[in-house]
Amino acid sequence: MAGGIKALGEGFALTLRHLFRKPITELYPEYKRPLPARSRARIVLTRNPDGSERCVACYLCSAACPVSCISMQSAEKEDGRRYAAWFRINFGRCIYCGLCEEACPTAAIQLTPDFENCRYDILTLVYEKADLLVDHGGKDREYNFYDHAGVATRGRAKGQHLQEGPPVNIKSNLP
Ligand code: SF4
Ligand code: SF4
Repeated sequence: MAGGIKALGEGFALTLRHLFRKPITELYPEYKRPLPARSRARIVLTRNPDGSERCVACYLCSAACPVSCISMQSAEKEDGRRYAAWFRINFGRCIYCGLCEEACPTAAIQLTPDFENCRYDILTLVYEKADLLVDHGGKDREYNFYDHAGVATRGRAKGQHLQEGPPVNIKSNLP
């Protein structure tokens, strides 16, 4: 009980102190407050350290998105690696929840602090892959999914990488 009254008193004291404090006005857009790196705004598609696209078109981000604003079409290269033939995000629907980034196994899709993305024409908020791709690795610049799984790299065959099991014969999974 005494603790509750003390907390109440401290709350009122804090409010009173702020009542007589000079307001701080930041003149946006002249002054742009630096935002934390993990702020959730405009989405980008990042690249591996060797410059290749990280996205393997697994559709996990699309499945995780609560407003269904991500769509893509997967394709396969000669070496068996999947990639997104096209990749589209409708920012007019995006609620910047970050679930797509959480779901992505390759760290390809990432949210950035760039929040200045307002338009008068809502159709210009539909971004294609060329609009989304950046030339760096974003928050995790050294990560490369295929160093851990999926293709032969640095003298190691499939299944011989860190924490990787031997390849599965996908035909054996068929009913
Ligand atoms: S931030 Fe949320 S709403 Fe926006 S694309 Fe990602 S999952 Fe969908
Ligand atoms: S961005 Fe990530 S989760 Fe989405 S399809 Fe590409 S690899 Fe999969």
